[in-house]
Formats: sequence, C-alpha cells, structure tokens
Amino acid sequence: MTIAKKIENFMSQSSWIRKMFEDGIKLKKEYGAENVFDFSLGNPNVLPPSSFKKALIETVQETEEHGYMPNAGYLETREAVASFLTKENNLKIPASNVVMTCGAGGALNVVFKSILNPDDEVITVAPFFVEYRFYVDNNNGVLKVASLKKDFSLDIAEIEKNITEKTKAILINSPNNPTGKVYSKNDLDELASMLLKKQKELNQTIYLISDEPYNKIVYDDVIVPNIFEAYKNSIVVTSYSKTMSIPGERIGYIAVHPELLDAEKFVAALVFCNRILGFVNAPALMQRVVAKVQNQIVDVNEYKKKRDMFCEGLSEIGYEFNVPEGAFYLFPKAPIEDDVKFVQILQQEKVLTVPGSGFGTSGYFRIAYCVDDKTILNSIPHFKKAFDEALKLGG
Ligand code: PLP
Repeated sequence: MTIAKKIENFMSQSSWIRKMFEDGIKLKKEYGAENVFDFSLGNPNVLPPSSFKKALIETVQETEEHGYMPNAGYLETREAVASFLTKENNLKIPASNVVMTCGAGGALNVVFKSILNPDDEVITVAPFFVEYRFYVDNNNGVLKVASLKKDFSLDIAEIEKNITEKTKAILINSPNNPTGKVYSKNDLDELASMLLKKQKELNQTIYLISDEPYNKIVYDDVIVPNIFEAYKNSIVVTSYSKTMSIPGERIGYIAVHPELLDAEKFVAALVFCNRILGFVNAPALMQRVVAKVQNQIVDVNEYKKKRDMFCEGLSEIGYEFNVPEGAFYLFPKAPIEDDVKFVQILQQEKVLTVPGSGFGTSGYFRIAYCVDDKTILNSIPHFKKAFDEALKLGG
C-alpha cells in the first residue's frame, strides 16, 4: 500500500457519514429512492434565495476578468462583508480584517495553519463536527475534547481543565452540528472571563475560534450571541454554504476581531496560508456574487416546519431529545446504549442516520432534517418500528 499509514487509519475511522451515504445509494437502488429515508448528510435541500440566482446571472453577464487577485480576496467583497459585520456586531470591522475563503472548512484550515506549532493544542467540545480532528491534524496540532453539560450547553470548568501551556485555541460551533444548540450570551461571557484569566495565568494568547456556518438558521426568535462582543482574541469563521444553500460553491470568510493581539500580522499570516494551502483565493465568481447579497438567507421557516414535524413525530414515539434552537440537525438519545447498533436497526428500516460516536458522543444519533417534508412524514412509522425493536432487544 502506498498511501500514508495515518491517512489509511483516518479513512477507516472517519467513514460514518460517508458510509451511511454510500449504504443509502445501494438501498435506493435496491428498494427505490422513495422507500429509503436518508438523513445522513447535511446537504441543504431548501432552495437558495432568488436574489442569489439573480446576482449570479448578472455577475456572469458583466464579468470579463477571471484572473488571480490578492490572496485575501477582492477588496469590494471584503468591504461588503466588513460593512455587513460592522452593522451586525455594532463594532467597526475594517475590510482589512476579512479574508475570503473556500468555505468554513477552508477557513478553519487557514486559521490552524496560521497559529499552530507542532503539537499545539486546540480544545473543542463533544459532540463536534467530525472534520475538526482532521483539520487540526492537517496543521500539526492536537485536538483535545472537553465534554458539555447534559443539555449540550458549554461546561466552562471542563474546558478550563483541558487548558495547558500548549493550548492555542478554543474552537466552538454555534448553532451546533450535531445538537442544534445555540450557546447563550451568559455562557460565552463566562467562557471569555475564564480565557482572560488563563491567558494571564499562563502568560500566553488563547484564541477563541467561532465556527458559525449556521448562524442565521435559528428558530423561535433565538439570537446567536456575538462572539466579538465577548472576547477580543476572537476569530469568526463562516460560510454561505448553509445560510444560502450553496455548499458546492465553496465560499466563506474569516473575520478577525479588530482588537485581536497583533491583528495586522495575524491577518497577513491568514492571507499567506490561504495561498500556500493551495486555495490561492476563494472562487472569484462567487466572491463577486456574495458581495451583492450579503443579507440574504434561505427561508428558515421551511427548516422550522421540518424541525417541528420531526419533533412531534419522534416525541410521540418516546424518543428523548433537546428541541434544536438552530441548524438543521436533531440529536436524539438512542433508545439502547449502543448507538451504532441502533443506527443499524434504523438502517434495517431503511432509515439512514449517523451514530453519535461519529461525533465523539456515544448513546445518541444524528438526524439531518434538510430533506423534503414527505421523507420526514413517511419515515415516522419506521422510526417507531426501530424504537420498538430496540426496546425488545434492550429490555
Ligand atoms: N463547520 C460545521 C459545524 C459544519 O457543519 C460544516 C459543514 O457541514 C462546516 C464547518 C464546513 O462548511 P463549508 O461547506 O462552509 O466548508
């Protein structure tokens, strides 16, 4: 075998979402797509806002240049993002503090490449987006995982316990994939106070990285608190993948707090890393498009309807879960301890989900409800059969 041992290992450990997706393709072939209920992938099914398509057509027609650009992105795009963020944050964010990236995934790699020395540590909380482990490893760091409270809110004491002189950053994601939790302003303020204390105590900078690709997908008047308000050494990474339903277009950005320590040098490192990681720059056409549609989002009510439909159906059966405040995932407790076994039982019912173990938290499973309403409605009797079957086995 000629591929790297580490990659071979990672590939065998990281296959849950992919495996479910591929099993789904086989099942659909065998039983017909309408008889398979695929909740494995977070691929948005709600249409992009119509203003996106309009801006895309306009941009294609008016664009003559397709060349390289400054590695941070077009100035007019960074200005549009900065002016949007300035309004949203009530804090002057200059265009020079914005770097356009290939999605939030690209953004996270650029940030880690910029800050991590070999074996430096990044602390996140479980359950977490699976790719974090690989993104940190790509850049020679080590991911440490702290647990959350039972309701999936931040446990500041647990995060604090994990901080050492090797800690470079804390990485959080709200609204969260896979729990749908939005961290409260109180929790973020408490996290910020703890980080300030630890920075002083250890005499080192600890960055707070907020991964926010779902920040506009929230329900019931929930507001995603502003990370910049809470902590100066903070960095927001985000994208238009979920808020505008365009994940295939690979467009996002990094925004750096204007008072982050040595912000200018920090941004220069980000720009350099965007280049040398091989991204060179975020896609040119998409940069031009998003500059025109800063404040546009998908119809969140569609996701809310799906969330409510699922919550009602599952709670009638007896599943236990926290009602998601944002994103488009449900993270119910498996009715038996073994989440992998339960996901297999669901699969026998042709329902595809992902075990919580894949996100670092066993005993749960993730449902991505960014699918059409009919799939949700028709799946409920199958969730019921799987629940009853699991109880028979468990009891
Ligand atoms: N962060 C989280 C929490 C995600 O769920 C995802 C995608 O599912 C990403 C980052 C990557 O998003 P993007 O498509 O913008 O790279």
